[in-house]
Amino acid sequence: MSISSLVEADRKHLIHPVVNYRAHEARGVTILDSARGSFVRDAEGNELLDAFSGLWCVNVGYGQQSVIDAATEQMKKLPYATGYFHFGSEPAIELAAQLVERSPASLQHVYFTLGGSDAVDSAVRFITHYFNATGRPQKKQFISLERGYHGSSSVGSGLTALPAFHRHFDLPLPNQHYIASPYAYRSDCADDAALIAASVSALQAKVAELGADNVAAFFCEPIQGSGGVIVPPAGWLKAMREACRRLGILFVVDEVITGFGRTGPLFACEAENVDPDLMTVAKGLTAGYAPMGAVLMSDEIYRGIADASGGAAVGHGYTYSAHPVSAAIGLEVMRLYHEGGLLANGQALAPRFAQGLDALLEHPLVGDSRHRGLLGALELVSDKDSKAGFDAALKLPDRIAAAAYRNRLIFRAFGDNILGFAPALSYTAGEFDMLFERLRRTLDEVL
Ligand code: PLP
Repeated sequence: MSISSLVEADRKHLIHPVVNYRAHEARGVTILDSARGSFVRDAEGNELLDAFSGLWCVNVGYGQQSVIDAATEQMKKLPYATGYFHFGSEPAIELAAQLVERSPASLQHVYFTLGGSDAVDSAVRFITHYFNATGRPQKKQFISLERGYHGSSSVGSGLTALPAFHRHFDLPLPNQHYIASPYAYRSDCADDAALIAASVSALQAKVAELGADNVAAFFCEPIQGSGGVIVPPAGWLKAMREACRRLGILFVVDEVITGFGRTGPLFACEAENVDPDLMTVAKGLTAGYAPMGAVLMSDEIYRGIADASGGAAVGHGYTYSAHPVSAAIGLEVMRLYHEGGLLANGQALAPRFAQGLDALLEHPLVGDSRHRGLLGALELVSDKDSKAGFDAALKLPDRIAAAAYRNRLIFRAFGDNILGFAPALSYTAGEFDMLFERLRRTLDEVL
């Protein structure tokens, strides 16, 4: 098909995730054709530096031959194996064992899903089952953070606290509640300690309001991604974990973005020695080479469910749970992170990323720079003192994304004038220089 026929067919038939449908029809699709290393090429042959790892997932870069080989070998050997009826496959079992070995010690059991949304959905189902099975059926209320993103499933999009995911979808559900996000740049708190204390008291107050006996769990991202890369102060995650323990509610960490080296260590939990009751992962698990996610859970939750099943099947499963090709990819991606040196490369280059973002603080448009590891953001303001944003009618994020594209750079321009960055862990020092040179040029152009 020619490019123009593809654009036309897309307009007529393909519904895209999280776009305005009418705006998309008017604009048309940008077709991506191929990719290698840190660059993607569009159908017109433009080569673009990807500073967002696809959708915060291609952590190992594009075209990694060993990953392609692992997938090809697994497809030839056993392209599909169900996990139903007590069947299983070698790569899925090995990957589960590795995840348990490399994740916080509290997590002992792995349930594979197809991505992050169904990992969150599965976590909610497991928690519900656990409390029903262990004689606490009234524990049904869930708390998450404002600006949080926990996927697009019918339940998870209610834990997500972004207006576009609720509007016209009858969300949040009556058992879904939010507390304020630890958003340092826009908080009144005097310092980090005060911000942490404010989050802890907000959680305590919400649990008191709902009644501790009614609250099942608190869900959070260690760094809120889609909500605008909100980086909480060091110590925040640990304080929230301890608060959940004191309050008698489960602590669920959603590491779909922050996992697999994105913030430095394999999991963000590691940096603060946090041991969640459940953890959801996806994206970097297979680095986007095939869909896969997982829920990791503590032995206590697993036993609560297992011991109460009374011989009946636990009715939760997908045809593609623990897909052997995705698992084989996951195993090779894990090897690249560790033996392949990509975690170390990401950690070594994180200061360069931080310096590049911080240097843009003197740009007239940039009010805030925040980052951890290779996850970062710039927040643009019209006035640095008042931190005032821009009139939505100016469509600044759209203009920035278009200018960046002309400068052969891809990142995420969020609706509220936040620019998100998540370069691959395989970036070179030269690619960071290229990223910041193109980014500065882009900001100058829209000034
Ligand atoms: N949780 C978090 C923190 C995410 O960032 C995302 C996706 O961006 C999800 C869940 C949903 O994952 P998926 O898009 O793979 O369904």
